[in-house]
Amino acid sequence: MESKKGRILVVDDHKKIRSILARILERENYDVDMAADGEEALEKIFTRIPDLVLLDLMMPKMDGLEVCRNVKNNHKYSFIYIIMLTAKSTSDDEVAGLDTGADDYISKPFNHKTLLARIRKGMRQIKDKQAAHLDSLTRLYNRRVFELFFQQEISKCERYCHPLSLILADLDHFKSVNDTYGHQAGDRVLKEVSEIIRENIRGADLPSRWGGEEIAVLLPETEGEGAEILAEKLRRLIAAHDFPRAGHVTASFGVASMTKADYDLFAAADKALYTAKEKGRNRVIVMPENQKIISP
Ligand code: GH3
Ligand code: MG
Ligand code: MG
Repeated sequence: MESKKGRILVVDDHKKIRSILARILERENYDVDMAADGEEALEKIFTRIPDLVLLDLMMPKMDGLEVCRNVKNNHKYSFIYIIMLTAKSTSDDEVAGLDTGADDYISKPFNHKTLLARIRKGMRQIKDKQAAHLDSLTRLYNRRVFELFFQQEISKCERYCHPLSLILADLDHFKSVNDTYGHQAGDRVLKEVSEIIRENIRGADLPSRWGGEEIAVLLPETEGEGAEILAEKLRRLIAAHDFPRAGHVTASFGVASMTKADYDLFAAADKALYTAKEKGRNRVIVMPENQKIISP
């Protein structure tokens, strides 16, 4: 099977337009998702992280400008390429669209060839930016970006004594998931686990793919208790999820928190994760706050 060229979210309140666009894009081998209004669009953008959004301007509840503003004002999603689509074509609308940060603007009725060419241009433009920040399979931050954020947050925590927590998750017996159901089914599990995590964390939290099947979530301004509650929630959701082919999969969690300088937060969470594995997996282990880690 030829791999998909990219993920596109089509947002329009008219069903007919959505399905026409979906058909054109699927024929071009894009992975297409749809949303019928602005609120649904934001939800899908934040959990599934498309490469590009075709965004209708006029919609009930939340219009395209507001959706665009929400995405572009959040540095975690600002690289997503947005093409505004609208029946109106006065230059005022165009200016308003571009002012909210839209990357391009097309008026309806549009020429299919032009639309596809603009999409290709958008895809080319974001590819490098994305590759530098995100892991391509899970759309979580890659390890390099995580390390940058981590240093920043540690410094803030040390300087201002704000709480900072870290959750490390590792899928249980994942090698046997691959061995039994194939690598593609394994990839699908990783993708869906990442979606579950994104759906349940806050905007300020930083999820990243730390290693192959290891995910780290950094939680600024969060104390141990909050981190534990979140980890337990994620653990339950993953264990209850029915993954395609693989069925049920579990994960183990290590949680650590700090409120003062001079603490190896990562080592603490890693130690807790190790203990969770040792105690039988599918569980959350929390390191007591600020407790020193004694190296073996
Ligand atoms: P444990 O419960 O102790 O964590 O066991 P495990 O099998 O999960 O741990 P181990 O470290 O032995 O194996 C990790 C496996 O994760 C091996 C590798 O095939 C799989 N893996 C890592 N990255 C990917 C990936 O990108 N896709 C898929 N499908 N599998 C991956
Ligand atoms: Mg594992
Ligand atoms: Mg592992």
